[in-house]
Amino acid sequence: MKNLLISLAIITAGCAASDMPAPAPYHAQTPDAEFEILKRRLIRTAANLMRANAALCPNTRMIRAAEGTFPICTNKVAIEDSPVKNAQTNGDTILVTTAMIAALSDDELAFLIAHELAHSVEGDYSQTQSRPLLELAADRTGLILMARGGYNIQAGISALEKLDIPNAPASDTHPPGPQRMDNLRAAIRRANQLIQSGKPLIP
Ligand SMILES: [Zn+2]
Repeated sequence: MKNLLISLAIITAGCAASDMPAPAPYHAQTPDAEFEILKRRLIRTAANLMRANAALCPNTRMIRAAEGTFPICTNKVAIEDSPVKNAQTNGDTILVTTAMIAALSDDELAFLIAHELAHSVEGDYSQTQSRPLLELAADRTGLILMARGGYNIQAGISALEKLDIPNAPASDTHPPGPQRMDNLRAAIRRANQLIQSGKPLIP
């Protein structure tokens, strides 16, 4: 199994594996060339979001690129070679599986990462609010973060649909799926109003 911690990227927040569907009972390995493509998509999307949202992240660092020096969020991201669609975080690093990346478009992947980044932006590790409410807030804030990264915010809906969220029951950590979808649709309407009125995209 290939595992890789990517030094540059993402996230410091609250989504455990319970965010995602249960693991499938098999394992197959991703071919090397495919793994490289998925890894690059993850890095590119994460880096773009962490740069676009540096002004909102609690911690940033400067990185140097061809076009100059700029701040990015300090969260890390990692990829795991697995046929199970999953994303989880230990509070410092978010781990996304190859199957998850492969299942999502770039815009949908941006929503997934932005949701995790939103937990960091919201400071969820220091909050005592209920997890279901934090998840709804992370969806709303994540939507704004992905919009700031230039992604199509409608992909938030299709990302949740691909994860079968509309049919997900409520749990200790997550609100019922239909509530999560309604929450996200309302967030899309609000984001579109901000964009159309030329107002700043702030969570
Ligand atoms: Zn979450």
